[in-house]
Amino acid sequence: MRSLLGSGSLQVRVSGVTGDTWQHAMTNAIEEARAALDHDDVPIGAVLLDDSGAIVARDHNRREERGDATAHAEMLVLSDRSRQLDDWRLVGHTLVVTLEPCPMCAMAAVWARVDRIVFGASDLKAGAAWSLFNIPQDERLNHRVELVGGVSEQACKDLIASFFAERRTERP
Ligand code: ZN
Repeated sequence: MRSLLGSGSLQVRVSGVTGDTWQHAMTNAIEEARAALDHDDVPIGAVLLDDSGAIVARDHNRREERGDATAHAEMLVLSDRSRQLDDWRLVGHTLVVTLEPCPMCAMAAVWARVDRIVFGASDLKAGAAWSLFNIPQDERLNHRVELVGGVSEQACKDLIASFFAERRTERP
């Protein structure tokens, strides 16, 4: 697990949420990711924690299932929680996801004003929370999101790698 905090401009606010909480949450996110395989979606899962560390929303990638480019795991849990609270502001929440968020999801987390994004594997091709862009910590935006990467990194990586390896062997 490594912290991806920037140059010290960010305040680390850890309330009830600890490293163990992230590990536990990531295990749940990985379970969600596996559920995406049932409908042939890339196995990416997400859970959302409230400020006590309790899981308040969980979902997985449903892009193929719904035929919807926006049906990423992160978007689904943010929307679910906003519906629960009838509020777009998700201050105090932590978004936990198996793969580094794409630009759409990273931006959605900033719009929702979540406190923190915790992710498993980096996405060097499309990651927008460290790899390709760093939207959650872009100083030009009016809200910064703390980042923690590499939680259960290998398990998250293996999940996606084996999905694509299987697909390659299926196609002659
Ligand atoms: Zn996304």
